Amino acid sequence: MSAFSQLRLDGVSRRFGGQAALTELDLTIEAGEFIALLGPSGCGKSTALNCLAGLLPLTAGSIWQDERRIDTLPPERRGFGMVFQSYALFPHLTVRANIAFGLRMRRLPKEETRRRTEEAVRLVRLEDHVDKLPGQLSGGQQQRVAIARAVVFEPSLVLMDEPLSNLDAKLRLEMRTEIRRLHQSLGLTTVYVTHDQEEALSLADRLVVLREGRVQQIGSPRELHTRPANWHVADFMGYRNLWRGRVGQVDGDRATVEPSGHRLLGEVVGSLRPGVDAVVAVRPEDIRVDGPAETRNAMSATVEVVEYQGRELAAEARTDTGLLVHLRTEHRIAPGDEIKLAIDPQRLLVYPADASAQTDRLADAAGATR
Ligand code: ATP
Repeated sequence: MSAFSQLRLDGVSRRFGGQAALTELDLTIEAGEFIALLGPSGCGKSTALNCLAGLLPLTAGSIWQDERRIDTLPPERRGFGMVFQSYALFPHLTVRANIAFGLRMRRLPKEETRRRTEEAVRLVRLEDHVDKLPGQLSGGQQQRVAIARAVVFEPSLVLMDEPLSNLDAKLRLEMRTEIRRLHQSLGLTTVYVTHDQEEALSLADRLVVLREGRVQQIGSPRELHTRPANWHVADFMGYRNLWRGRVGQVDGDRATVEPSGHRLLGEVVGSLRPGVDAVVAVRPEDIRVDGPAETRNAMSATVEVVEYQGRELAAEARTDTGLLVHLRTEHRIAPGDEIKLAIDPQRLLVYPADASAQTDRLADAAGATR
């Protein structure tokens, strides 16, 4: 269905007054791909999407659909479908009329409008609700109408800006599957903005992680999950344990780091020299609790807080030297318990520390403030 084989963003930048919201975004999107733009609030995700949509002019750079430059075109001439956080449905029009609206505006023949509308209704499973007004629908159903309206004219690209953020947790999961199903069955090309890393990992073929308007990493869900490019991306991808420490030895892609007096061995990402500051990143689920006599990266700790999370417990424990550890375990541990921890060196990533590694948040995570 896509009317192009590649969409290319070339140095796309946007400033507001003196402030850069997006700086030199380079990205090539292949037809049929599902791309997620991911990052914390204010990192420039919506700015990037709005530049693509044509709702915001670029301050530098260009956007190309194959050989055709499109950043100079107004939004309606780009022919992209858009779904936003707020559904923005016409309250006085029925579901059917809302979905057909775009086709009517494009003056498609009546019969084709009817056929395509019915097909879109079926795709988003709203057959039983076509004659209702938006006010008579649940949030999830309204968002389905918004999605149907965006895909009904078979756009070459669908842009979605946090489309699920107004829905409750259960509906969000259902709609996530729905969006992926639609993307596949219609052969859409989709760019999807979210701050939810789990949502991005489960939906996208490739993720673009932004921070302060700059790309930090572009990669597959697996790459982002197992090998974040820097500690900021690691932080964002669920590596809740971020410990600052001095580098001891470096041996190829292995290094020892000493946060709060613990000597830990891990995998180096980037380049490091002995004696410099590093940030160690470990996921809570990669901390082993009372495992078989593991001697590498072993620590003793006291459990401080335990949260019940179904099959697993999420807990915070503090080592004898004061390092705060976030962990997940199936063991039944309780506050006050003494536990033995171990971390597989392959699951312990060591990053060069940058100036922002001196922030209070990281110091706190390292337990250095207590
Ligand atoms: P969120 O998840 O909170 O929506 P975001 O990653 O989508 O955040 P953007 O909305 O793209 O972030 O904003 C990026 C930066 O640009 C922010 O610092 C924001 O304050 C700034 N910004 C965005 N729109 C405007 C505007 N119209 N005028 C001035 N500054 C803006």
